[in-house]
Amino acid sequence: MAGRPETETAVVIGGGIIGIACAHYLDEAGYDVTVIERATVAGACSHGNCGYICPSHILPLTTPDALRSGFLSLFDPSAPFRVKPRLDIRFLRWMWEFARRCSERRMIDSARHLMTILESSADAYRRLLNGGRIPCKWQQDGLLYVLRSEAGAHDFARTDALLGERFGVSARWIEGRDLPGFDPSLKPGLAGAYLYPGDASLRPDRLNAAWVGRLRESGVTFVENCSFESVERVGRRALRIQASGTSLSADLFILATGALSGKLARHFGGALPIEPGKGYSITMDRPAPSPGLPMLFPEHHVGITPFDDGFRIGSMMEFAGFDETIPEARLAQLRAAVAPYLNVRLPVANTEEWFGWRPMTWDSLPIIGQAPGFDNVYLATGHNMLGMTLAPATGKLIAELATGSVPHIDPEPFSPARF
Ligand SMILES: Cc1cc2nc3c(=O)[nH]c(=O)nc-3n(C[C@H](O)[C@H](O)[C@H](O)COP(=O)(O)OP(=O)(O)OC[C@H]3O[C@@H](n4cnc5c(N)ncnc54)[C@H](O)[C@@H]3O)c2cc1C
Repeated sequence: MAGRPETETAVVIGGGIIGIACAHYLDEAGYDVTVIERATVAGACSHGNCGYICPSHILPLTTPDALRSGFLSLFDPSAPFRVKPRLDIRFLRWMWEFARRCSERRMIDSARHLMTILESSADAYRRLLNGGRIPCKWQQDGLLYVLRSEAGAHDFARTDALLGERFGVSARWIEGRDLPGFDPSLKPGLAGAYLYPGDASLRPDRLNAAWVGRLRESGVTFVENCSFESVERVGRRALRIQASGTSLSADLFILATGALSGKLARHFGGALPIEPGKGYSITMDRPAPSPGLPMLFPEHHVGITPFDDGFRIGSMMEFAGFDETIPEARLAQLRAAVAPYLNVRLPVANTEEWFGWRPMTWDSLPIIGQAPGFDNVYLATGHNMLGMTLAPATGKLIAELATGSVPHIDPEPFSPARF
């Protein structure tokens, strides 16, 4: 990475996984970094997610089938994918632009761009975690997509073929009759499963804590309960920001405020098309027997992640604005969704019940690049369903763009200028 003058300072706004990763690579590039966070560092969407580091998730949400599922969900309040109809011009525009991209051709286009950044990020994680630079356990045995019915298996076989033929991502097929032998937590009678061996998983809160600890040792400052309010500029340069009554000057500013970035970006050259895509998870003690691998059940749109000291079920995608409720019915649905697959008695009590707002863009691609109208402000947001996975490559790209180094991947598809 190219150098920069020793004394330059950077302020990262937002202390989620994306802000943490940006702080990491800016610190490595020699910046004096401060991260400000309106609440608790890594306490929002980066806290209770499923923790998959999943380069196999190449296909965007804008699939040709997404419109049909979205339409049907209007009539089913229990659907995992739910759109709450509302008369909000911004949201209606978002839906319209999303719908326009639900074609085979555009899906493949987005998938190509996603694949580049997914692979780069998975590599970066291997270097960070295997080398012990960030002390956090991660499981590298793959992600298992379990299909319950023959029809479900038949449908998923098309996705698997697309991933293999177009993108070279191949999986191992395991017949239903072999599944209980493969993982005793799985019920007999399932149709089968695909194991994507390049995927991994970790416990997000452990990663966040270990990464923040390592950055603090390196001199990065984290300031909690410090909410960005406004920016002062001269021409194309941001001079300082106001945050919770404090004024912070810096040479470089990064906006990494997740789902809230849509509105906040207005201060930096224009609002961004980011909608909160709400999901839920429940965490509990490890059941016995515990599934050995992280698993996805595509027919029920639900995922499970076993940890050393716990077990998580996560799912749902609700477009309902910045809703903060955690309805009992949704949590009960998570438990019910895994019952057809797992031969396991789940603990009665949850140790944590959680929701997170995914920062959803209408083209399923993240927004990484210079803010329009500013020379020293960059945006790192809109990571949709893949923020945990995409964090290292995002941080690396931001540091490369800010220091004027040659970017390790083509930044163009992720540029804010595309909107
Ligand atoms: C149920 C569920 C499961 C998921 N599973 C996975 C998975 O397995 N793998 C994966 O890769 N991704 C997964 N995701 C997606 C992933 O969690 C998100 O993409 C990611 O956490 C987004 O990170 P972020 O840093 O952009 O946002 P956040 O974690 O939300 O961080 C943004 C931060 O900015 C702060 N902020 C906001 N406004 C201000 C302000 N004015 N001033 C200062 N700070 C501010 C917020 O408080 C917040 O802490 C999942 C999401 C959900 C909901």
